[in-house]
Amino acid sequence: MTKEKEPVKGKPRNGNGNGEQVVCSFCGRSAQEAASMVAGPRAFICDRCIKASFDILRNELSAIQHSEQKAERPFQPRLVSPKAIKESLDQYVVGQDIAKKSLSVAVYNHYKRIESQEWMREDDGVVIEKSNILLIGPTGTGKTLLAQTLANLLEVPFSIVDATSLTEAGYVGDDVETILARLLHAADFNLERTERGIIYVDEIDKIARKSANVSITRDVSGEGVQQALLKILEGAVVGVPPKGGRKHPEQQLININTRNILFICGGAFEGLDRLIARRVSKSSMGFGSKVKDKNSGYDPEILRYVIPDDLHEYGLIPEFIGRLPVISTLDQLDETALRNILVEPKNAITRQYRKLFEMDGVELEFTDDALDKVVEIAIERGTGARALRSVLENVMIDIMFELPSMSGVNKCVITADTIEKKSPPQYLTGEGKQKKTA
Ligand code: ADP
Repeated sequence: MTKEKEPVKGKPRNGNGNGEQVVCSFCGRSAQEAASMVAGPRAFICDRCIKASFDILRNELSAIQHSEQKAERPFQPRLVSPKAIKESLDQYVVGQDIAKKSLSVAVYNHYKRIESQEWMREDDGVVIEKSNILLIGPTGTGKTLLAQTLANLLEVPFSIVDATSLTEAGYVGDDVETILARLLHAADFNLERTERGIIYVDEIDKIARKSANVSITRDVSGEGVQQALLKILEGAVVGVPPKGGRKHPEQQLININTRNILFICGGAFEGLDRLIARRVSKSSMGFGSKVKDKNSGYDPEILRYVIPDDLHEYGLIPEFIGRLPVISTLDQLDETALRNILVEPKNAITRQYRKLFEMDGVELEFTDDALDKVVEIAIERGTGARALRSVLENVMIDIMFELPSMSGVNKCVITADTIEKKSPPQYLTGEGKQKKTA
């Protein structure tokens, strides 16, 4: 092995000892012109060329680090187009086209806003505001499902909080910081992922001011909670106890910046239709009189005309409404929609049961009449699609209890009688014969 000669650093000399002139091998500057010269085995480099090389390397390294950081951003959701977002939502959520469209655009803009903060250097003074979303619609129409599906789609952490569990700091109940602690958990304590997550705040209508709307029977602490939520909806750095619960002086807090967390708030806003109808009928006789006929029930059509003033009248404070710039409404699900929900979505409940039975080697079939019966009972319960699962679960439990201990069954047919009277389903054997049940 040949030993490399150590570079010689130091005050420039005129010659290299062999009578030759010492010049920088890169720029040709002579030893007299340079402040310092480093000598290698067969070359010299002057102080200026060392500095220039250092600057080139530093720039290159920072460019590499920058692109590596960019590649390592698993928490940065892919910027999919609103159309693509809606198409994905269509696979899981039946109907609700208006809500899906506005959610798709709001979410697209939200993540575009985050990208623009991070990668656009020039500042033209245009600040894209946060587009938190308010979903208004009856129970069991898919508000939570929409928020959850969006989060899955974008692969961002997601958490759900019930507004009725929140209180102003100092009261019994959850502080608003708990909301952030939950998201932190959902993100496996990864702070960067947390700060790009989605939080769904359910039952937001229940924190409306009591005095503004007499139809609200429960006032958690109303305006105080709205005030407490304002800060995190807008964007603030909040010290969060990682395990949730109340803050106390010795506790270590994690600072979470909520600037890029998307808040989707949802509520049924019972009685809001009446407020809108009243306003509309005052301003337009023709339209108003059409609306008055429907005043007795929840009228989703009229909800579409909601404006921030109506929400104020309902009991939300103007600052709070201002933090929810995207307002969208969901329709009451009709018979056809409920029927579709049973079979169409990618993870429709009947598909889930079919899969479970398949694992036991049994083909599961629901007759059309059976599905109609499920819808009929669900509608009577008045909790939207929420009732579908409980109606089915009620009959399927017994069947799933019995079936694994039965021999020779390879098909199970659920009929309307099974749903309505809990009669045993048809169990068929390999030869297509019906098996007798006890
Ligand atoms: P909300 O939040 O509006 O009260 P959810 O989203 O919690 O209602 O709905 C309850 C359940 O009903 C969901 O888990 C889902 O299975 C079903 N569901 C509700 N609406 C829809 C819909 N539009 N499409 C598909 N499933 C739905």
